[in-house]
Amino acid sequence: MAISSDGHGASLSTGLQSMTADPSIPHFEDDTHWMRAALQQAQAAAQAGEVPVGAVVVRDGVIIGRGCNQPVGLHDPSAHAEIQALRDAAQHLGNYRLEGCTLYVTLEPCAMCAGAILNARLARVVWGAAEPRTGAAGSVVNLFANAQLNHHTQTTAGVLAEDAAALLTGFFAGRRQAQQVAARAAHPLRDDALRVDEKIFSAGCDCAGSSCFYSNWPVLAGLRLHVKDSHANGSGAPAAMRWLMLPASPAPQGLFRPLAQALAAEGDRVVVPDWIGLGRSDRPKKDAAVSDALHLAVLQALVEHLQLLPDALPAPAKLVIAAHGDASRLGLALYRLLAQAGVPLARMGLWLINPALPRHATPAYRQWLEQVQRKPALDVVQALQSSALDGLPGADIAQWQAQFPDKGHRAGLRAWARDAQAWVDAEAGSMNASLDLPDASLVSVGESAQWWPWPTLAALDTAPRLCPGGDWLPLQNPQALLEHAAFFRSTPQQ
Ligand SMILES: [Zn+2]
Repeated sequence: MAISSDGHGASLSTGLQSMTADPSIPHFEDDTHWMRAALQQAQAAAQAGEVPVGAVVVRDGVIIGRGCNQPVGLHDPSAHAEIQALRDAAQHLGNYRLEGCTLYVTLEPCAMCAGAILNARLARVVWGAAEPRTGAAGSVVNLFANAQLNHHTQTTAGVLAEDAAALLTGFFAGRRQAQQVAARAAHPLRDDALRVDEKIFSAGCDCAGSSCFYSNWPVLAGLRLHVKDSHANGSGAPAAMRWLMLPASPAPQGLFRPLAQALAAEGDRVVVPDWIGLGRSDRPKKDAAVSDALHLAVLQALVEHLQLLPDALPAPAKLVIAAHGDASRLGLALYRLLAQAGVPLARMGLWLINPALPRHATPAYRQWLEQVQRKPALDVVQALQSSALDGLPGADIAQWQAQFPDKGHRAGLRAWARDAQAWVDAEAGSMNASLDLPDASLVSVGESAQWWPWPTLAALDTAPRLCPGGDWLPLQNPQALLEHAAFFRSTPQQ
């Protein structure tokens, strides 16, 4: 029920032309007097939290019916102000025919109310603001102008239209503001962080499941974390297979969209976070505030709070950590942490997709990491061209770039590149660089990958599974990855 500012202005200029030439029709010199009474009803509606529309029925200079808009409070779609006022007047007269009466209403009547007005055989209806979206007295249709329908009711538009429209616009502005305040109160934005406009992210590029936001875990310290979860709020039966998917920077959670949809369709639970500093999660303004240590602690909290470990379910129920590209360092670290914490290995799987490995970075990948850190206004999409982008949906790539509207939003991006560089430079054998992949792990590699071409993975002690596709396999060849995923359902663990 939005009011356009030009809509009621137009009706104001034409509406006051008299349409009441018939002397049998009651006419009052001062329609504004009765419209003020209708506006009082509209104010009462606003105070009750209803869209402010009010109406009165007048006969022989006396108000015999009053009504305010109450569809929400009465759980009644017909409880518009006009209907309420007509009912009140009809009770007063003991007659459904309201002959000789005039209805004053603050907003142009809708089709339902226009029908009721015609059925009541009102002599006259006077309204204030035009309703460009639903008005049935000229704005959308004009039921009063149809000679086959209307033999009785004269109309006058635009009486105190500005007052009525101001009530409505004030009401909607207040409600929007209250909603924004409530949204911020649920996840208030820290002074030292930024949040990207939601409009940047189109739903078509999102993973399966609901968008969930968390900010009250101690590790988050008030930063808002965005997670896509196919089983949000306990919806659906408990899934035996749980997939925690970790996208490489700068891709948000949508990188795993086709794979996540296919696995969720099989009843699995698929959880994909946006890293702090990327996607829809909050972005600290300073690089130093984002680190692998923070990401890892957030992942641990995620596993715990979302109860991703299938403790009470029979084998082969398990949590599979699926990490893409240079998120592999965090996938591996999380797997080790959970194992150290005593999670049985039979309850976990590790899946590395085009993994980034220590001491094997290609020059193109190194150049990407350096550019991200050195160039504040780097065109992300252009810089990504050095990876194999074949077959990626354009909307996804556009979104990867759009999530960095300015330098201030890039702290998470820079911090990621800083820590990724430290990982690929790390000496083999050091605590962080040691691969030593567990038996329950699988490595999938795109045949045409350029940043992480499969021959560099010769260092692995497990044979990678090759499939057509480049560096962004989850979007480029989800079908092949779906076949690889079967490894975790069928392989006996331990
Ligand atoms: Zn209505």
